[in-house]
Amino acid sequence: MMVEWLSHLPPEVWVMVFSYLSTQEKHRVRCCCKVLKKLIDHPCLWRNHMVVLSNFPRYTAGFWDTLKYRRVTRVVVQRLRPKDWKHLVKSLPRLTTIVCMEGQQHYKKKNVDNLLHFPNLKTLGIRNATWSEPMLQQCQTGHLAERLTHLSVCNIQLPSTAEFVNSVSRLFNLEYLLFHQQAEGKLQVVEPVPSKAFHNLLLNLKKLKHLSWEIQEKPEVPLPDDYFYPPDPEDPEAYGGPTLTSLELVNYPETMLSENALRGLTSLKSLTVHYRYLKIDVKCRLQSWLSHLQELESLEIIGGNSLALYTTTFPPHVTRLALRVIISLKDLCFMAKKVKKLEHLDMHQNRFSGSLCKKLPSLFPQLKTLRIRYFHEEPKRDLLFLRNLKHLEQLELIVERSCILKSERNDHPWPSPSSQELIRELQELSENRINIITTMRQRNLFRECDCVWEGE
Ligand SMILES: [Zn+2]
Repeated sequence: MMVEWLSHLPPEVWVMVFSYLSTQEKHRVRCCCKVLKKLIDHPCLWRNHMVVLSNFPRYTAGFWDTLKYRRVTRVVVQRLRPKDWKHLVKSLPRLTTIVCMEGQQHYKKKNVDNLLHFPNLKTLGIRNATWSEPMLQQCQTGHLAERLTHLSVCNIQLPSTAEFVNSVSRLFNLEYLLFHQQAEGKLQVVEPVPSKAFHNLLLNLKKLKHLSWEIQEKPEVPLPDDYFYPPDPEDPEAYGGPTLTSLELVNYPETMLSENALRGLTSLKSLTVHYRYLKIDVKCRLQSWLSHLQELESLEIIGGNSLALYTTTFPPHVTRLALRVIISLKDLCFMAKKVKKLEHLDMHQNRFSGSLCKKLPSLFPQLKTLRIRYFHEEPKRDLLFLRNLKHLEQLELIVERSCILKSERNDHPWPSPSSQELIRELQELSENRINIITTMRQRNLFRECDCVWEGE
């Protein structure tokens, strides 16, 4: 009966329909019958999917066959024994992405040797590990340099940071580099990557577009003004580094870079700053940084100083703005004068913010996507004003989970019945034009390490 019903549409149409499902939903549909199982396993539906492999002894031959059939190329691996690596090479030799998420495992040179068996490897992530030998040795970087375009390393302990940075500078094809949170050893004080090693890295990685960098605050001596501006060895007056389009500063303490630190990075289209904590007695650098970045299209600020201290220099071409800071109606009105072309807004709302939704349609009429994360409250009736955003395609409403659990509403899951009713009303008023999402999006385990992931 089911097979008959399925044959009303050609398989490719079913595959397209299923492409709208979440991974969880796909797994549910897959359990129904053999025909659906085959349709759901179509490689098109798993193209960008990252499979987490954490328990090799439990995986059957059928499991590996399914991964092969789906043509899986991206995996996250945990606690791999030498024989598991061999199994992985045999079963999925075409892997392009491997993220190693170990629980403070001790690594040696041979652990990286395992990676050399994947000829298509382009993207490598390493998390939570201690290296007792240099992490990327010369013989390995030689092999990996041709292949790797993306490298993401977070929360690791190294024998020498400068040595590691020098090894990375040999990976000349890198377009994406994330390096943060060096775990502190017992006898070791972690310091910022020295200027000389960092400049050498930037001078060698000519193809680098995205850099995500942590700057340590120990000792409390600011870095030189030209930290992000390596001079060209042939022409010391000119910039010799790559044409970066995206920069992310993680756990940034505000004291280490000067007001002129980003002056040379005029090619930046995207800037993200995750502040470690707020320093009251230090002048906010953002106002000056932003005044130098006139090409900026995307800005994300997490924590730090009051918005009013830097909204005056918001670059005019910004179309994407994410602010995980306290935001008031006054801030919003001021921002609207600066970023008239805003199309994507991600902001926080708490009980002190006022009626932000009511004003959004007049302040940012071009908005296509809007994400509101609620703290200590749920959406109120002013949410219905969002129907006046004529270009709005997607609305994400997220509630800080810890706030729900702490409140007396903890027996109501999000969205609560009253919020569901509001969402239904908004959908009706907008004639179902707006896609309303109430669940946290899926985490990208390669790009979103624990330092930057906002979820629980
Ligand atoms: Zn990190």
